[in-house]
Amino acid sequence: MDQLHNFTLIFLTMMVISTLLRIYLSQRQINFVTKHRAQVPDSFADKISLKDHQKAADYTTSKVRFGRLPLAYEVALLLIWTLGGGLQWLDQNILTLDLNPVLTGITVILAFTFISAALDLPFTIYSTFVIEEKFGFNRTTIKTFIIDMFKGSLLGLVIGVPLLYIILWLMEQSGDQWWIYAWLVISGFSLFMMWVYPTWIAPIFNKFEPLEEGETLNRITSLLTRCGFNSNGIFVIDGSKRSSHGNAYFSGFGRNKRIVFFDTLLKMLSDDELEAVLAHELGHFKKKHIIKGMAISFATTLLALAVLAWLMKAEWFYSSLGVEHASTYMALLLFTLVMPVFTFIFQPLFSIFSRKNEFEADAFAAQQTDAKYLIHALVGLYRENASTLTPDPVYSAFYDSHPPAPVRIAHLNAHA
Ligand SMILES: [Zn+2]
Repeated sequence: MDQLHNFTLIFLTMMVISTLLRIYLSQRQINFVTKHRAQVPDSFADKISLKDHQKAADYTTSKVRFGRLPLAYEVALLLIWTLGGGLQWLDQNILTLDLNPVLTGITVILAFTFISAALDLPFTIYSTFVIEEKFGFNRTTIKTFIIDMFKGSLLGLVIGVPLLYIILWLMEQSGDQWWIYAWLVISGFSLFMMWVYPTWIAPIFNKFEPLEEGETLNRITSLLTRCGFNSNGIFVIDGSKRSSHGNAYFSGFGRNKRIVFFDTLLKMLSDDELEAVLAHELGHFKKKHIIKGMAISFATTLLALAVLAWLMKAEWFYSSLGVEHASTYMALLLFTLVMPVFTFIFQPLFSIFSRKNEFEADAFAAQQTDAKYLIHALVGLYRENASTLTPDPVYSAFYDSHPPAPVRIAHLNAHA
């Protein structure tokens, strides 16, 4: 009884701490950006107009302000699902169907996922069709939005249900070591997904076309040869179907690597700049960031599963979170729901790792091409994407995978 009381209290305390922290960070970001709204930072004064700078400030603060509503909603829902008895109610109803434990688990988790997605929908709609629209970034039509939702759910079912089946089965049947088997399955599965993603999954949502012959392709090919990089093609996708934000990425691994440019990015940048952006992405590969990132993610998954295996056996874990009967699927569901409350404070660690990688990739790009082109490209991207040049340092340490604009440009200038 004591333990029950204790864990409820710990959970509530951590929830209050992480929520207050998130509100505090959002307020810091709004204050900082607003304070710097009147003037373009010196190092950007000749590159970004005051009008663009202020648009970025307004876009940033709008997003942060709007983000508080889903935050409050998220906290309320978490309480309703757990201590409020929401999961208990779902469990009780689905248990009356009298399925075997694995199928009961799949049904409970699917019902939960479906209800949560429906409850989130208003926010996704508002963010896409109101905020993005207001700042001129939205290109998603209602039709595309609905088709995406449909395709996404179908894909989630086709891929997620078999995986969930295996995991729940292992939790039920494979004894005390289940978490090691589950870890092997999840790791193998994520490698498989990375491998199939570029050729099988991404084309479900976007049209892929090989980059046309010409100067741009020649430049890119020669950069790839220079760096000794093999890829399975250079593609352009119709990112403009959904948004005017530009991007470029690599996906896949082994021989199944693809280089993908958003059509919006091709329009935004010159050949020199594109080459520099690609050199940065190649830097991530050459410096083994992808592999390091995967190693970290596999290690954290193993740790999480070990904790879950321990919690699953503890009666208090269920009862202190509003669930009456212990079960594998409730352990999994409660764990996924409650974990972020405990891990949010560690987020800066991931930012530190990611920023170190960005600096290394920038340094690599500066060796392969002229740093001034990457600077041009980045400034162009900051402007077109209305990214703020003046994020609050503390907010940024929690939320941004990339260094703040002035820090990054200064670092590149040192290499120029
Ligand atoms: Zn990068």
